[in-house]
Amino acid sequence: MKLKKRLDEILTQSSFTQSTNPIVISEGALQSLVDYVTEQPIQHLLVVVDEQTLQAAGQEVGHMLTEKGIKVATHCLQPNQQGDVIADEQSIVDVLLHVQPETDCLLAVGSGTIHDVVRFVSAKTEKPFISVPTAPSVDGFNSKGAPIIVKGIKTTFQTVSPVALFADLTVLCQAPSSLVAAGFGDMIGKYTSLIDWQAGAAIANEPYDQEIADLTREALESCVEVADQIGNREKEGIETLMNALVLSGIAMAAFGASHPASGAEHHLSHYWEMHFLEEGHKQLYHGAKIGRSTLLIIQYYKEIVRASLRTEANKKSEQLISLIDSLPEVSEVEALLRKAGWHPEQAPIDEELIQLSLLKAYHLRDRWTLLRYYHETLQWVPDL
Ligand SMILES: [Zn+2]
Repeated sequence: MKLKKRLDEILTQSSFTQSTNPIVISEGALQSLVDYVTEQPIQHLLVVVDEQTLQAAGQEVGHMLTEKGIKVATHCLQPNQQGDVIADEQSIVDVLLHVQPETDCLLAVGSGTIHDVVRFVSAKTEKPFISVPTAPSVDGFNSKGAPIIVKGIKTTFQTVSPVALFADLTVLCQAPSSLVAAGFGDMIGKYTSLIDWQAGAAIANEPYDQEIADLTREALESCVEVADQIGNREKEGIETLMNALVLSGIAMAAFGASHPASGAEHHLSHYWEMHFLEEGHKQLYHGAKIGRSTLLIIQYYKEIVRASLRTEANKKSEQLISLIDSLPEVSEVEALLRKAGWHPEQAPIDEELIQLSLLKAYHLRDRWTLLRYYHETLQWVPDL
């Protein structure tokens, strides 16, 4: 398997700065986790789960570790009124209250949200954490960034990566198909994040690293090749997707920021998420939104931004046009998403919110994207 080999190379030759090691993505990874913990100076573990991930793996992990004589405390994060577990002040305090002086290590068992809460607490308490993803749903498991909702605003804090990651393919293959489709959606977002990153370098000299960009693209393309197997939740497809998500996380950790994996498509998704929170709507999966926002951004860049750039006849606009030209067609990307089990109904965003986000979402991050360039530089502004 191409990506597995790439990951092994990175872990053994450490050409990238990244601190998560070992990373085990295999059948039987939960046993590898137990072996790892027993070899470390770990006596007290705090396992953080939610109700679903307790069933998916939390309980089993707890039993396996207790049998080896490890003292395991489990904290189950509770959903809000809409039924969502949110990475916010409340969840952080809940976990902090369960960290004891004798806690040696935290274990995040579950989704991206659980990981974000645990990674934040891990950084604040200076206690390491181990990642146990239960679905290939997002690329943030092993990154340092923790997007946290503080007073209703989503802010990404640079915190810590897990010291180790164990993803058991048996658990991952049983994950709900909508979560698998969301993971694929998060990877598909790299089509636009990668060109936004290059555009940012061209527009404003934002830092850029070709090797890290290549790694992210390799991860994206490998997933695209097996979209069918991912949709059918076949082992090979799920393994490729999980490896791709982890490699994307490594790319972000190595770069020290989320540029490789997060461009305008992520800004749109964050904007929608904040709006949903304000309105008290039930949240959508991150990757389901990214699938939708990537389609919208590709369309916007190809139809609106490109036309505007064409009126500018200079070297920079030619360069930016060629970036847009390198994007696949909306229909192609939508077909891929559908193969992997994604449907537009998984991200129902009304037209008004879409238009508002296309206008305003770029303000959420101090980062150059083609969307921001279009609004701040290209659009004709009347002299007042
Ligand atoms: Zn993402």
